[in-house]
Amino acid sequence: MAVDKPIYDCVIIGGGFTGLAAAITLLDAGKSVAVIERDDMLGGLAGGFDVGGHELEKFYHHWFTSDTHINNIASRIGRRDQIVTRQTRTGMYFSGNFFRLSTPMDLLRFTAIPLLDRIRTGLATLAVRRVKDWKKLEDISARDWLLKHFGKTAYKVVWEPLLIGKFGADADDVSAVWFWNKLALRGSSRGKGGGEELAYYRGGFAQLARDIGDHVSKAGGKVMLGAEALAISNRDGIVEVETSAGVIRGRTSLVTTPLPHAAKILEGGSSAAYAQSLNRIRYLGNVCLVLEMTRSLSELYWLNVNDPSFPYVGIIEHTNFEPRESYGGRHIVYLSKYLPVSDALYQMTPEQVFEYSLPYIQRMFPEFDRSWVTRHHVWRAPYAQPIVEKHYSRLIPDVRTPIDGVFLSTMAQVYPEDRGTNYAVREGGKIAQLIVKDLDGRTPASHKSGSAAETIRMAS
Ligand SMILES: Cc1cc2nc3c(=O)[nH]c(=O)nc-3n(C[C@H](O)[C@H](O)[C@H](O)COP(=O)(O)OP(=O)(O)OC[C@H]3O[C@@H](n4cnc5c(N)ncnc54)[C@H](O)[C@@H]3O)c2cc1C
Repeated sequence: MAVDKPIYDCVIIGGGFTGLAAAITLLDAGKSVAVIERDDMLGGLAGGFDVGGHELEKFYHHWFTSDTHINNIASRIGRRDQIVTRQTRTGMYFSGNFFRLSTPMDLLRFTAIPLLDRIRTGLATLAVRRVKDWKKLEDISARDWLLKHFGKTAYKVVWEPLLIGKFGADADDVSAVWFWNKLALRGSSRGKGGGEELAYYRGGFAQLARDIGDHVSKAGGKVMLGAEALAISNRDGIVEVETSAGVIRGRTSLVTTPLPHAAKILEGGSSAAYAQSLNRIRYLGNVCLVLEMTRSLSELYWLNVNDPSFPYVGIIEHTNFEPRESYGGRHIVYLSKYLPVSDALYQMTPEQVFEYSLPYIQRMFPEFDRSWVTRHHVWRAPYAQPIVEKHYSRLIPDVRTPIDGVFLSTMAQVYPEDRGTNYAVREGGKIAQLIVKDLDGRTPASHKSGSAAETIRMAS
């Protein structure tokens, strides 16, 4: 039987923000695209789930007011007005006490460390934000760099618990570049009074992903959900992506999945050595326990837990950011833990995670009662955070893979910034521009195509 099979200018693997931003840029340049997404929804790590008829991120998400690339893509699809900015309150739980840490005044009142250390912390925070040449930080560990700038007391109370809370046994390997970027970024998202302001999309991040996906479809792009890419090869100048929904063909392809998935997909068409080199970057997983509650835990949006005996590093009360009216009046709280996927917490059933966590919540918030929780959810991501080691730049794979016409742009290649949807959009746009150039330089007569997906006849 003869079937028509289009050859797309680019077959994009992964419908997260990198893949979606690449699709928009390619379509804008008049190229045809197919986006292949394994899940049944777009958004990747920023995807959502249903809480009583409302959509919520599986993992808490916000933007900083300095995140220009997200604003640009929202403008590009005519949805800029859907981004809202709100003041948020940040705090820290330390030694059985809650401290607010949203403004410079809050820092001065932070009695967990002596006054001189508070002043030093404030000055050092300002100083490190002025650092521009991150390359000089590449061979310093975050630990040594923080000790040098903030001193031992502030390091022990403020920074070490965060570093260990996030990276666990890998904390000593983390590069100063990672921490510098965190400090610089958080400081760039402030209102006039010095307080923190963060941004969100009406309806959530998954709604933005859907809106971008709709735009891609309307512009002639193909979005395929529930299709898993299994292997890629280049046959006679055409890239063949073998998926669970059949073979999709393109003049080029872009892989945006986590690197271990990319290694598997690319393995057959390239070399085992190349696939292995992708696995050199290590990741941590994440577990988020999401509580739907009848009452609020605190007035804070973001609570850093600087208590090593507590299993979670952050408690994020989402409805202290996006009003609870958006979720039928429910209060929404995330408890977040980064961890190796071999960790016992990662392996627990949702019910076990919930029961395990209750006594800790009770200890931190003595008024809390389990009857406040109407529903709970547990989300896990095996590749949630690349471990940004010293000299990370040397580990980052090139965007061009050994397979002709196949490109790679993933969360782990975002650097010196840390991963995030804003940078996913930036990198997706950048790689798409490179692919456009590559396509324009690639004109074998038999495969020349115009802006629409070229169709060839294939016998099967
Ligand atoms: C706990 C947590 C909190 C976060 N908080 C924030 C935040 O507040 N703000 C923010 O901006 N960012 C945040 N992030 C980071 C943000 O979610 C990511 O940086 C961003 O979503 C990465 O987008 P991506 O497209 O590069 O990758 P992903 O989102 O990982 O997308 C890759 C896509 O590829 C798909 N895929 C994988 N394998 C295949 C295959 N074989 N075939 C087809 N498809 C495949 C996946 O299903 C996925 O949809 C957070 C992340 C986590 C884990």
